[in-house]
Amino acid sequence: MTRTPRVIVIGAGIGGLVAALLLATRGYEVTVIERAAKPGGKMRKVDAGSSKIDAGPTVFTMRWAFEEILREAQAEWPQRLVAQPLHTLARHAWCDGAVLDLFTDIERSADAIADFAGTAEAAGYRRFCARAAAVYDTLKDSFIRASRPSPLALTQRAGLRGLSGLLRISPFTTLWDALGEYFRDARLRQLFGRYATYCGSSPFAAPATLMLVAHVEREGVWTLDAGMSGLAEALASLAQRRGATFLFEQEASRIVVERGCTAGVETREGGRFPAEAVLFNGDASALAAGLLGPDAARTAAPTPPSARSLSALTWAAPARTSGFPLAYHNVFFSEDYRAEFDDIFARRRLPRAPTIYVCAQDRGKEDRPTVASGQPERFFCLVNAPALQETGEIDSAELRACQETTFRRLARYGLELSFDPASCVRAGPAEFARLFPATGVALYGQASHGWRSSFTRPGSTTGLPGLYLAGGSTHPGPGVPMAALSGRLAAHRLMADLASTRRSFRGATLGGT
Ligand SMILES: Cc1cc2nc3c(=O)[nH]c(=O)nc-3n(C[C@H](O)[C@H](O)[C@H](O)COP(=O)(O)OP(=O)(O)OC[C@H]3O[C@@H](n4cnc5c(N)ncnc54)[C@H](O)[C@@H]3O)c2cc1C
Repeated sequence: MTRTPRVIVIGAGIGGLVAALLLATRGYEVTVIERAAKPGGKMRKVDAGSSKIDAGPTVFTMRWAFEEILREAQAEWPQRLVAQPLHTLARHAWCDGAVLDLFTDIERSADAIADFAGTAEAAGYRRFCARAAAVYDTLKDSFIRASRPSPLALTQRAGLRGLSGLLRISPFTTLWDALGEYFRDARLRQLFGRYATYCGSSPFAAPATLMLVAHVEREGVWTLDAGMSGLAEALASLAQRRGATFLFEQEASRIVVERGCTAGVETREGGRFPAEAVLFNGDASALAAGLLGPDAARTAAPTPPSARSLSALTWAAPARTSGFPLAYHNVFFSEDYRAEFDDIFARRRLPRAPTIYVCAQDRGKEDRPTVASGQPERFFCLVNAPALQETGEIDSAELRACQETTFRRLARYGLELSFDPASCVRAGPAEFARLFPATGVALYGQASHGWRSSFTRPGSTTGLPGLYLAGGSTHPGPGVPMAALSGRLAAHRLMADLASTRRSFRGATLGGT
């Protein structure tokens, strides 16, 4: 078989885009099939009034991952993707009026914590940073950048030197309990426990290992002038320049299987695309739900509803703000964190008193808006929500109550927002069900609850030869940089497999020996 191998990538989320870029760079004939009109998946931008607002991920971290990917794609950092480092990582507020900023610089944060909660807590913070860095160092090469290991393989990869590190990453302790070793102030436990939600999980059930997210943020958070959706556009255009073809508003409806191997993709629009390999970038649980036909369904295990990660309720609007000095990233904490996660994960309802994340997308380095005084700023607000049922339908009275509570609570923290409801784009589980079908409206794949969860996420390969997976529901996990790394892992695995089978036509061998 001398023909250039054809690869279909289903989905132009970050995982699919990275895979498409790397495969196209290596000369594969890549076609990306995407049901939306634009690339990016969850990294999406919405038209809210006259503003375009990022309404998905807003925190850009692990820049090294993208630099490595671009290097492999023989490309420079895209010029239109100006990245500005944020010195204030986030501003955190409590309803008693307390406010705490965190910075990339440990000593600056420690000083702020000392002013906020005393010197003992500042010392706890320094110890916490050291431990989070150690967890990250232990897992970066053996887990995050590598293919999905089993617990045993992880131990082997770490080697003797890494073994003591592995024993210290505390996979069997919850993040909340581990934080108690460093902080007596419940507000600081709440602040650092929130990092579990970056993986769609509860700090009361996620392993302490997730403290590595604190280290990732401390290593740097950037804003992208073109927004996170600009990152998707930049990668898509680079992949196109490397020869990949993008078909938007086309939905893959079946993985074609011949002689036990992946042979191509059919679309709902009637297209048929033969291929030597297919890479699926949607949620792995969508395969099990039969979104891509019965053959693909047999290769995947469904995510039980109890194992689903968080969904969200979000608002994007141009708004005039006053009363609270917003930074770029702002978090307004609830009084009772445990009750909030009990609402979401145990009672499976919208939180009665939510923690509210506000991204003021026109605030830059100095926390000042870049728009003229009195003009509306781009504003994005998110509260965590349960992944309820496939349709994501929530009782409209419950939805209204959560919305009213959210904005009433922001006013209690002093933040007054004035915007035209007609130019506010709201998205909740029902919208996410339509945008990302068969995901159970969980935005981060399966929740990272318990030590086993890291080892039960699907890896790059499936039980169907020639079908690969990439994205936030697969190893190494959710979040833009992690999903990007999953795209690289899947591309590498696919290339290695095709290289080893290229000289002969592939076929399942029937009848054993
Ligand atoms: C509101 C929100 C806030 C978030 N905040 C952050 C954050 O601050 N930081 C962070 O790192 N992460 C955050 N995340 C998570 C992050 O966005 C995701 O983990 C990551 O973008 C997932 O990328 P992915 O590769 O899995 O692809 P996805 O973004 O899931 O995209 C998958 C793509 O596949 C397409 N697709 C699926 N099925 C088909 C089909 N049959 N045919 C054709 N196309 C198909 C979909 O249309 C979609 O475009 C957030 C997510 C959301 C929704």
